Amino acid sequence: MAQIIDGKALAGEIRAEIAQQTQELIATGVTPGLAVVLVGEDPASRVYVTMKEKACAAAGIYSVEHKLPADTSELELLQLVERLNQDERIDGILVQLPLPDQIDEAKILEAISPAKDVDGFHPFNVGRLVTGNPLFKPCTPYGVMVMLQRIGVDLKGKNVVVVGRSNIVGKPVALMCLAEHATVTICHSRTQDLATKVAAADVVIAAVGRPEMIKGDWIKPGAVVIDVGVNRVGDKKLVGDVDFAGAAERASAITPVPGGVGPMTIAMLLHNTLESARRRAV
Ligand code: NDP
Repeated sequence: MAQIIDGKALAGEIRAEIAQQTQELIATGVTPGLAVVLVGEDPASRVYVTMKEKACAAAGIYSVEHKLPADTSELELLQLVERLNQDERIDGILVQLPLPDQIDEAKILEAISPAKDVDGFHPFNVGRLVTGNPLFKPCTPYGVMVMLQRIGVDLKGKNVVVVGRSNIVGKPVALMCLAEHATVTICHSRTQDLATKVAAADVVIAAVGRPEMIKGDWIKPGAVVIDVGVNRVGDKKLVGDVDFAGAAERASAITPVPGGVGPMTIAMLLHNTLESARRRAV
């Protein structure tokens, strides 16, 4: 039976370390600050924003929320981003996605100063990640990497299979694994014979958004399974992209959903905000 990787506990450890380091930075006269921008009334986005703000408060990080109506224009949002770029109390700017249809998401993300881009989505930071010198690493993939590191998985020479190629999870986590000297295969909706690809993996990272599509008997015995997927089935139940019960029979370690990667994402957002404030301090 696999080790169940307790993302909540790991994230708790990291958040405690960040709270300590935040106090040390505040003692030098610099308080880290995060601006969170929410446009519209999407209930899931509302929940994420509240969780991020609570986490900031618990870590001693100053946070300010800008809640804008759903009919906000692109120009209005660009103007707000520009004000936040100039605001000296703000080290990180997070524009919660998705944005309403009238706003071009790429344009907004590119307007955020790369030095305050704590989500790591600006093309400048993406480019820095590709060239192996990232300024900010995107939070969810970064959380996956820290998780692997803290449970003692050395990726050097390992076969990593990433299922999913989104800009926010699949591609960046693949790049980060490559930087750790893994041999990386990226799979997606057009990949042929996914089961065989997954079966060759020492580490499987699933970021698809399809409930339990990766079957337990695809997993190589002893593999490590990281499930980024969060899928709601029925009214309340959340499941990942991996058939947890089946995969846990074969894997050496596996993340649960919920309580796996999810909590790490917020911890890494706090980490990036603190890092940004430290850069301001020097
Ligand atoms: P996207 O929808 O942007 O990307 C999904 C990827 O999965 C695409 O690359 C797609 O391929 C691929 N895919 C779809 N169907 C298949 C299939 N049948 N076989 C193989 N690949 C397939 O999703 P995200 O990356 O944004 O999110 C993925 C999951 O992770 C979601 O469940 C999301 O909720 C969760 N998530 C969790 C976070 C957390 O903090 N825990 C944070 C972010 C996301 P193609 O490119 O060909 O379309």
